[in-house]
Amino acid sequence: MPLAVTHILTTIILVGLYRDHVAKHKRYFTLHTLFIAGFAGLLPDIDFALRMVAEFFNFNIPILLQHGGLAHTPIFGLIFLIPAFIFLKQEKHKKAMYFFVITFGILFHIFLDYFLGGGAGEGVMWLWPISTASFKIHLISRFGMKDIPIALDAILLLGWLWYIEVKHRISDFI
Ligand SMILES: [Zn+2]
Repeated sequence: MPLAVTHILTTIILVGLYRDHVAKHKRYFTLHTLFIAGFAGLLPDIDFALRMVAEFFNFNIPILLQHGGLAHTPIFGLIFLIPAFIFLKQEKHKKAMYFFVITFGILFHIFLDYFLGGGAGEGVMWLWPISTASFKIHLISRFGMKDIPIALDAILLLGWLWYIEVKHRISDFI
């Protein structure tokens, strides 16, 4: 399964590339937006934390809240479109953008879990609540590439550092 850094960085990188090359609107797309994007990219795995808390208190969590459950369904991501469009209608573009990137981060997390492996072992319930059928490609386990997630973390981190160095001259800020 993709590790935390992969989830966070792939989302930040994609939203960052969008910010730099498509939106080109730094006022609505601030560095806070990028931070929120990274946070949202990991948000579905909040069910891990939930499980740890539940185990600590010896509490049984309902199956839908277990890892790979509700937090790994598209509905969880799409729900954030409601505040996004409300803020957009009020012409609060910056706030609206926060919620749009949350939706993107969550959906992209679910896609990565579906594609590379992660969430529930059975796959992603793309159609929940219409259907509980699970779908998966799970490239990593399919090809026995269990070391890949660690390598992916390292490559992404280095690539991203290189990008912000070249594009934004991060070393000027250190
Ligand atoms: Zn996940």
